[in-house]
Amino acid sequence: MQTKVVSVDPTRIDDACIREAAEQIRAGGLVAFPTETVYGLGADALCPEAAKKIYAAKGRPSDNPLIVHIADYAQLMSVARELPREAKLLADAFWPGPLTMIVWKNELVPRETTGGMDTVAVRMPSHPVALRLIRESGCLIAAPSANVSGRPSPTEASHVAADLDGRIPLILDGGPVGIGIESTIIDLTEEVPMILRPGYITAEMLAAALGEEIRTDPGIIAPDSEQRPKAPGMKYRHYAPKAELILIRGERGRVIREINRLTGEKQQAGLRVGVMASDENAGSYTADCVLCLGAEGDMEAAARQLYGTLREFDRQKADIIYAESPAASGVGAAVMNRLCKAAGYQISDV
Ligand code: AMP
Ligand code: MG
Repeated sequence: MQTKVVSVDPTRIDDACIREAAEQIRAGGLVAFPTETVYGLGADALCPEAAKKIYAAKGRPSDNPLIVHIADYAQLMSVARELPREAKLLADAFWPGPLTMIVWKNELVPRETTGGMDTVAVRMPSHPVALRLIRESGCLIAAPSANVSGRPSPTEASHVAADLDGRIPLILDGGPVGIGIESTIIDLTEEVPMILRPGYITAEMLAAALGEEIRTDPGIIAPDSEQRPKAPGMKYRHYAPKAELILIRGERGRVIREINRLTGEKQQAGLRVGVMASDENAGSYTADCVLCLGAEGDMEAAARQLYGTLREFDRQKADIIYAESPAASGVGAAVMNRLCKAAGYQISDV
């Protein structure tokens, strides 16, 4: 299959491009498109055959459910069996935006879309291209990240093409995304709302909007515990570069010394070493490729650049990557979550 890449300027969206993409979705086909979080791989969420194509193109395990993207609140009501009072509060506070809500599904939503579950994940993206595509297609659009399963999520159209060229008919290129990590997922089917995946919308922001306590899934905090994460996707190794990735955590001077010591050791063994660093520390490293995530403590910059940087290490053929461990507060909690997963939870305290 030939993959067509079409540029769309998000500030001046070309009608013909959107019509072509919408037609593809209505016909049961796949379209990769930009959202504010990462690029999505979209298909008609209510059509089982279309949803199956997403799993096939990504090589995604069939028990890992898809997020359904909508363009107005009524579409949430159209797929939910019942809506808890929190849904409206959170939609008013954060939609359109990077928040996904899990609610009980009704019979309209096929199990192919929900990975066999009785619940459905729903999000209203804020990216103008995503919203236009949903509206023009007249469909609800199921869209996981547009990467091959297990690889870092795509934050530019070129990342989508690197993974899915020849496997999907159309990529809408709307330039680099704004946020760079996937949406926060909150489960509203529990007694107490529970975060299943941290993201740009933090636990503090959610609790403030709801005026009530929320919890975080213990299965994502302690990956080696008996507890399985409730979002099936969180149990898979994910976001990973080809190289081995190890997080080094501790006081700045000690981290730099330890990374340089390890670098020397690995270089002696003939390996090509990468380091993921803050702008301030980058000059202190002796590795073969040193890539920056932004100023120290700027977690929004780190979120925006994380996946592109992991892919760049692959391009530069790093065999092993050492990463400084970012501050885990605010958006940093989400960055840390993705990094830990990408590293297969290899963290070394110094
Ligand atoms: P991605 O497609 O990369 O954005 O990942 C979607 C995430 O949402 C995965 O971790 C899924 O397991 C999770 N998810 C989607 N639907 C549900 C659901 N009904 N219940 C729990 N988690 C879900
Ligand atoms: Mg994904």
